Amino acid sequence: MDSARPRFSVGLTGGIGCGKTTVANMFGALGATLVDTDEIAHALTAPGGAAMAAIDSEFGREFLTPEGALNRPRMRALVFSDPGAKARLEAILHPRIRDAALAQAAIASGSYVIFVVPLLIESGTWRQRVTRVLAIDCDEAVQVARVMTRNGLTEEQVRAIMATQVTRQERLAAADDVITNNGAKALLEPQITRLHAQYLAFSERMSRLPVERL
Ligand code: ADP
Repeated sequence: MDSARPRFSVGLTGGIGCGKTTVANMFGALGATLVDTDEIAHALTAPGGAAMAAIDSEFGREFLTPEGALNRPRMRALVFSDPGAKARLEAILHPRIRDAALAQAAIASGSYVIFVVPLLIESGTWRQRVTRVLAIDCDEAVQVARVMTRNGLTEEQVRAIMATQVTRQERLAAADDVITNNGAKALLEPQITRLHAQYLAFSERMSRLPVERL
């Protein structure tokens, strides 16, 4: 593979609880390589993670746990009350998440890459980095019920998280492809099989185009 040639890739997004992880794993089972930006963010802020030295010097030792990981409750409280701190944290994390995600994609052995990016629409630059945006969509009531069960949260807490994300309409407007996940998991299969076939065809076509036509 010519490393200068852009590869076909999908940015998978969706509101909390809509089924991003569930759907991504099903694409993975069909042969796509998954690059999960949440997992990368966790690794960067784990003890000895690649973002911890920068977080230490920017925010101070009190934002680290004794093991050297990010002190999440403390940082959450700070960024909640201080948008400037949120921007400073993102300035540390976002470029590192992007670099690690692209490094994982560069060595991907799957038929194409799916970047799982919960805040893809919100964070701006991911949209230019992927060939297609795939939104996993579900009704708000379904979303609330799933997250209450999965995370043991109240409806109010789930709705507070949802309020920090773009609306369903904004997400759908930005998506090239949509998978609807309101019913049984079995209803996902035909949608995923159909899109996977399309993605393989796109990927194949992109790998044949002369570079100047890309
Ligand atoms: P996200 O990654 O978008 O937050 P998940 O894939 O983790 O969403 O799904 C949220 C929760 O709902 C998980 O516990 C998952 O097992 C469950 N879930 C997802 N889709 C369905 C479905 N179609 N039927 C039943 N449970 C589902």
